Amino acid sequence: MQSFEGRRTVVAGAGVSGAAVARALHARGAHVTVVDADGTLDGFDVVDLDSPPDGTELVVTSPGWRPDAPLLVAARARGIEVYGEVELAWRLRGENAAPWLAVTGTNGKTTTVKMLASILTAAGHRTVAAGNVGLPLLDAVLADPPYDVLAVELSSFQLHWSSSVQPVAAAILNLAPDHLDWHGSLGAYATAKSLIWAGTTSIGNADDEVSRTLLSRAKGRRVAFTLRTPRPGELGVVEDLLVDRAFPDVPGEATELACLADLTVTGGHNVANALAAAALARAYGVPADAVRTGLRTFTADPHRNELVATVDGVTWVDDSKATNPHAAAASLASYDRIVWIAGGLLKGAAVDDLVRDAAPHLAAAVLLGEDRELLREALVRHAPDVPVVEVTRLDTEAMSEVVAAARRLAQPGDTVLLAPAAASMDCFSDYKQRGDLFAALARG
Ligand code: ADP
Repeated sequence: MQSFEGRRTVVAGAGVSGAAVARALHARGAHVTVVDADGTLDGFDVVDLDSPPDGTELVVTSPGWRPDAPLLVAARARGIEVYGEVELAWRLRGENAAPWLAVTGTNGKTTTVKMLASILTAAGHRTVAAGNVGLPLLDAVLADPPYDVLAVELSSFQLHWSSSVQPVAAAILNLAPDHLDWHGSLGAYATAKSLIWAGTTSIGNADDEVSRTLLSRAKGRRVAFTLRTPRPGELGVVEDLLVDRAFPDVPGEATELACLADLTVTGGHNVANALAAAALARAYGVPADAVRTGLRTFTADPHRNELVATVDGVTWVDDSKATNPHAAAASLASYDRIVWIAGGLLKGAAVDDLVRDAAPHLAAAVLLGEDRELLREALVRHAPDVPVVEVTRLDTEAMSEVVAAARRLAQPGDTVLLAPAAASMDCFSDYKQRGDLFAALARG
């Protein structure tokens, strides 16, 4: 393992991942400078710099930092090595370190790694979900006692800043335009995502065009999952069963893993997530009955298609985490008659396909946020008969007006669905606050 003793290092970003990096480097005797425009970090001076101090040998950056940040551009121009927290965690793994089973994709990452962790636990392995889910990989890798295996969520940002990471098996769930401001293009975004396939087994989604195309060029053993009947080498769905024809118990046959009724979450997108988690677990040798038990005991994180209230025959569902059109499309396809709450910051994403596909399900729409006009125009084009209410105020009080309007519009049997297709920061501190306010008002 590489020594950091006496090395001059810069940690870019004083957030959760930067803090883990600064502590790990300091503990290994490195000289650490933490750079952040306005953060603080216990035990470290935090400075704002556009260029690494003289003598810097390594910059470890945080996922939020874009590659064109002046500090990172200056570091590379001077030939200083730059990588991220995930890469550092990989390099600090000892001998016999826990293998990584990894997940990336535009949507469904957190759900899938948590399903995977639940399945691995059901199989008796000591594991944890780490990475982009909140627990830095450094903390998971350096944990004492060590884990047997890690369920790793990697964002495209983290993959961009990794070079030697090799998960033993890895899945790309789907790829839709997102974060293009950060990566520069869809091609660069896809390239970053496919860095995850560096190990023995590469898993992709046969139903997602980009994931499927990338998989056809992937290294290692290729395994696909699909919502249709699986071919040999795939996992898929036969009637109401999840079946495995990639890692069957009896060669050439299909192994039953679970029933759809074993899933604790709704929607075809969550069946896809379950198949991806199962594929990773099976690649690691987990028996079929542990897949079933793990899926049965899985509980989704809040704000992801969460049922928050049933009032007068109307179901209220919080999918505030649907922060881009691809995510909202998945949840809009999961309910029959919907009063749709949408809008916020669209980050340049197009909404025509989303609105056209959702139109048959829409009973009404309530729009909020800065980019609501773009949604209203798309509704006029593709769903002209759907009643639309616009809430104009741009603060947290907007949610009271939104919920009041939804209550007026909804009829017994309808689902009021908060699936904004947009980021929340125009009116709320984050998607959690947006969902919590919605849930509290729905219950009230
Ligand atoms: P991520 O960690 O990638 O943001 P999450 O599991 O937190 O993903 O889910 C975020 C949102 O994405 C969900 O609330 C849901 O709207 C949508 N979603 C989840 N899984 C999928 C999927 N497989 N395909 C499309 N959308 C999905």
